[in-house]
Amino acid sequence: MEFVESKRGKKMLIFDGFKYVFGYTSQANVTRWRCFMKNCPAKILEKVKVILETKGDHEDNCSVKNIDRQKLATTCKRKAVEDIGQRPRKIILGEIQLLNLYKYTTYLVKIIILTVFQEKLMLLELPQQ
Ligand SMILES: [Zn+2]
Repeated sequence: MEFVESKRGKKMLIFDGFKYVFGYTSQANVTRWRCFMKNCPAKILEKVKVILETKGDHEDNCSVKNIDRQKLATTCKRKAVEDIGQRPRKIILGEIQLLNLYKYTTYLVKIIILTVFQEKLMLLELPQQ
């Protein structure tokens, strides 16, 4: 279980590969979280970092495990080429944040940073006209 904050400062919870947004906390200190995907009925009740109950099933496209790595790599490469002065790590971390892939940050950075560097090197090695 991981507590994160959205770009707008909203409290979010990542649990079991799914992301939830804060609903409200009851007087008994039970917090209600709902899936971040619109129209998804899944909710969880959490108290002091313990999951009390999960309600409803997720839709097929809810899981943050369902990452389109290719898409991420492609976007990072494009941005690296567009802005060659930007540090690859910064580009990748920015994209990861946009795609809400916090959980996989370390792993993804390791595989993508290499790809982006290769792309940059290729670009630098192009003969200057
Ligand atoms: Zn869901």
